[in-house]
Amino acid sequence: MGALSQCAHTQTTTELLPQGSTHYAQLRCATCGEHLRFLPKPENVERRKLNAYRLAKLQMAPGLNQWERQFVDSLVKLGSNRLSPKQQDMFDRLCLTHLDRRAA
Ligand SMILES: [Zn+2]
Repeated sequence: MGALSQCAHTQTTTELLPQGSTHYAQLRCATCGEHLRFLPKPENVERRKLNAYRLAKLQMAPGLNQWERQFVDSLVKLGSNRLSPKQQDMFDRLCLTHLDRRAA
């Protein structure tokens, strides 16, 4: 049993990859050393979760003007984890303006 191209062992180990690698770390089988999958940077995961949460909050915020609402809608369609630095910047600003400080 087990997913395609993965060994049947259950023990895994995380191996950090050298700086400059495309990926942050990889998950390997602790028994045979087979590569299982790449792992994202923890702070990127946190950022994505926070973005998704704040984006949902912004969608419900009452004070947005039409342009801001369109911007929020476009981010929803794009996916909150694929923001460009410029979009992230604008997004952060909207959160500060429209969201409760505890949420922003
Ligand atoms: Zn294995």
